[in-house]
Amino acid sequence: MTVVAIDGPSGAGKSTLARALATRLGLRHVDTGAYYRAAALAVLRAGVDPADATTTAKVVRGAGIARSGGRTRLDGADVEDDIRGPEVTAVVSDVAAIPEVRAHLVHLQRDEVGDDPAGAVVEGRDAGTVVVPDADLKVWLTASPAERALRRAAERGGDVAAEADALVRRDRRDAHAMARADGVVEVDGTDATVEQLVERLVTLLRDRVTALAEGRG
Ligand code: C5P
Repeated sequence: MTVVAIDGPSGAGKSTLARALATRLGLRHVDTGAYYRAAALAVLRAGVDPADATTTAKVVRGAGIARSGGRTRLDGADVEDDIRGPEVTAVVSDVAAIPEVRAHLVHLQRDEVGDDPAGAVVEGRDAGTVVVPDADLKVWLTASPAERALRRAAERGGDVAAEADALVRRDRRDAHAMARADGVVEVDGTDATVEQLVERLVTLLRDRVTALAEGRG
């Protein structure tokens, strides 16, 4: 089983890279952010204020959150498009800050990783520290603030300055989950293409696996 963890801030290009690497290696792509987004959607639909941690955690524990084939389901319905909308993005960090919510979702994320005997590329904020701390390779993907804002604006057809402000706010709110894992390799994706980054990670993974096999890991 091969497991790669890719963590980093919003807009660094984690999803694109994780998806491309998973395809290249024939592994499952586990998007941990999708679980937090589905949880936030459940909380919005229940009309609960995320400041009420106890009720929020109860709603999340009772929500049927599932991922398969790159799609997210909530209580049986496909919500992949709904969870990417601005309403969910506005509250997701508050929902994700609740420890009981994190414990429940990490459990579901690990189940998804374990479902594929080949392994997985796990993407998020705490993949290397919490979800799969024994990953063969752990990467912290960064990009310059300007590049991150440009990418976000291009994805959503929005304004670059507004995206830059939103990213600063989200970084601050997500800071609690953003510790660097032991042995993590920092990769700056600012000036690299997805293909170059995939090659870089494939080489890093090969070196890591060889070092472990030779007892140098
Ligand atoms: O990666 P994405 O932007 O979809 O993540 C949405 C939000 O979910 C993040 O801003 C963060 O608040 C939360 N998240 C988290 N831990 C993860 C993945 C996402 O707290 N592993």
